[in-house]
Amino acid sequence: MKDIPALFGSMVYGDGAMQETLPEDIYRALKRTMAQGTHLELDVANAVAEAMKNWAVSKGATHYTHWFQPLTGVTAEKHESFISPAPGGKVLMEFSGKELVRGESDASSFPSGGIRATFEARGYTVWDTSSYAFIKDGTLTIPTAFCAYSGESLDKKTPLLRSMDAINRQALRILRLFGNSSAKRVVTTVGPEQEYFLVDKAMVERRPDLITTGRTLFGARPPKGQELEDHYFGAIKPRVAAFMRELDEELWKLGVTAKTEHNETAPAQHEMAPIYAGANIATDDNQLTMELMRSIAQKHGMACLLHEKPFKGVNGSGKHNNWSLCTDTGLNLLEPGETPHENAQFLLFLLAVMQAVDEYQDLLRASAASAGNDHRLGGSEAPPAIVSLFLGDELTEVLDALEAGADYHGREKRPMEIGAVVLPHFPKDSTDRNRTSPFAFTGNKFEFRMLGASFSVADANTVLNTAVADVLGGYADKLEHAEDFTAALNTLIRDTIRAHRRILFNGNNYAAEWAAEATRRGLHNFETTVDALPAMVSEKSLALFGRQSVLTAVELRSRCEIQLENYSKTVNIEALSLADLTKQRIVPAVIAYENELAKLLERKSALSGYNLSLEKALLSRLSNLGDLLLTRMDALDAALAGVKPEGDALTHAAYYRDAVLPAMSELRQVIDKLETLVAREFWPVPTYAELLNSVN
Ligand code: ADP
Ligand code: MG
Repeated sequence: MKDIPALFGSMVYGDGAMQETLPEDIYRALKRTMAQGTHLELDVANAVAEAMKNWAVSKGATHYTHWFQPLTGVTAEKHESFISPAPGGKVLMEFSGKELVRGESDASSFPSGGIRATFEARGYTVWDTSSYAFIKDGTLTIPTAFCAYSGESLDKKTPLLRSMDAINRQALRILRLFGNSSAKRVVTTVGPEQEYFLVDKAMVERRPDLITTGRTLFGARPPKGQELEDHYFGAIKPRVAAFMRELDEELWKLGVTAKTEHNETAPAQHEMAPIYAGANIATDDNQLTMELMRSIAQKHGMACLLHEKPFKGVNGSGKHNNWSLCTDTGLNLLEPGETPHENAQFLLFLLAVMQAVDEYQDLLRASAASAGNDHRLGGSEAPPAIVSLFLGDELTEVLDALEAGADYHGREKRPMEIGAVVLPHFPKDSTDRNRTSPFAFTGNKFEFRMLGASFSVADANTVLNTAVADVLGGYADKLEHAEDFTAALNTLIRDTIRAHRRILFNGNNYAAEWAAEATRRGLHNFETTVDALPAMVSEKSLALFGRQSVLTAVELRSRCEIQLENYSKTVNIEALSLADLTKQRIVPAVIAYENELAKLLERKSALSGYNLSLEKALLSRLSNLGDLLLTRMDALDAALAGVKPEGDALTHAAYYRDAVLPAMSELRQVIDKLETLVAREFWPVPTYAELLNSVN
């Protein structure tokens, strides 16, 4: 038996390692910096770097790296070894405070969406002291933020950290109003549930589309998909179990609290959920999780697919972002309380989220937008592209009663005001029944379910934190100057419910009627990434992020442009891959099979007395489909040739959506029909059934 508590965090330079390796005064200075985000003095940095390096070397590390999260959405690292020349042709292992705290990085190799053009090309990385350093593959890895020399952030972490500051500031104002003077900090907690597929590596290697684009660009529906619903929570297959065991252990060494592992709805689909952590740590940990999932799957002869929709007709993979607010004294602000006073505070935070989700629906939608996720949102498996909020019947009744000025008391209704509300005792799971809602209250936290499996959780949490911070700030402005706090609170709560209740929906979000109802309510329905992203640069968005000092207009514009470009590039790569595969693999396979049939027909017709109807019919169907294949192949080529170099990022992205994607989908229809007619031995790639059942 392994000693898991000893294993846990053994590769992290965390609090334990700091205490063991740092002189007392240095330790205290570092903790102060970490808690307050203040500047690290050079002598302290030098001492920390020395201790950190010795610790890392004792664990076998030879290199260090500044690890950052550029706007590509994946992580980046550049390794430097610790060696430095010493007299006599020898080397020493060295690491200075300067190297720990700050690194140079050529920003021009990372997306900057226009910032590069107007500002300097160089960028730098700074140690994010709120996230511990760790050892990965023999390298001391230092989590950093990445900025341009002109000061603009070029990564996902910086705005997230700023948004955590914003919500901390505003939430503390509210807590003070409720007489809480003990909390010093409010942190957003995040627990991302990560879905993924595991497919045999040898199979994937024979699917160039999966390798190049992460998803299958064609493939006929398998005879058995997920309709029997026999996979969810089913027994875990031995190869998968071995993978999960190793994944857990490797994550634990890095201090990632991998907790729950189970099968998901689709065949070959699984999920991992960690114990929640502060939003910045959760973001880092989720990146590490995705990275380790991929590399450990390889070791086990499998490929881990993190694409949002690797297989058409089979559930895609999302990432459920569980989110709450917690004080440094351990109080969950979204946990219904025991006393009327606690409940009033709980309701105010709950309403702040409701208002933020309503006012900034479009930004939340944009934070879940990507070419991959467009295939998933709106299917009857994932929430639709419409943002709404689920509170459950009981809480909704409470809000109804408050809005009406009545009291909610069990089933009876008696007149009462907010200061005296006794909430019914909600059993936690009764608030968690609705799995179709994009944004659901689940007892003591909210679950935002729109994110795609491959997403960084940074963007969504940045939006959420900033929007809620802004609303809380508005509440504090009103309440701080109120003559009668309780009366002002009552009015605020009533007005908020009245103004924002249109965002509440407890019904089935997959039903077609909901889309119509949402339109009636005036809710947004941005079906594609191209519709969704411009919200990032609306006047309202620029004002929000500016007010809360999270992102400047320049930063927002650059981010929007990068994501639009990313959309176009993704679709372009997919289209080129599909065109290539069609010509290189599908056409030759169809011709080879036709040729076989034609030869057979010829031989058989030389002999008399045979009925040739099967062969003839098959050959004629194949050849008709072949004609259609040619037409649609040409149409895709024409769509690709029609891409105009001029025009802005939005125009480009719209062209890919309106001209290229439909051409791909039409071509795919023919290929999928052909797959059902061409003999298996002639079909050039593994089928859906083979891929989805490849691991046992
Ligand atoms: P389910 O699949 O039923 O939604 P899981 O156990 O798979 O539940 O995932 C729930 C996730 O929510 C876990 O990652 C958990 O740590 C996280 N979570 C629980 N409480 C909080 C909280 N207060 N803040 C943020 N995340 C939380
Ligand atoms: Mg789960």
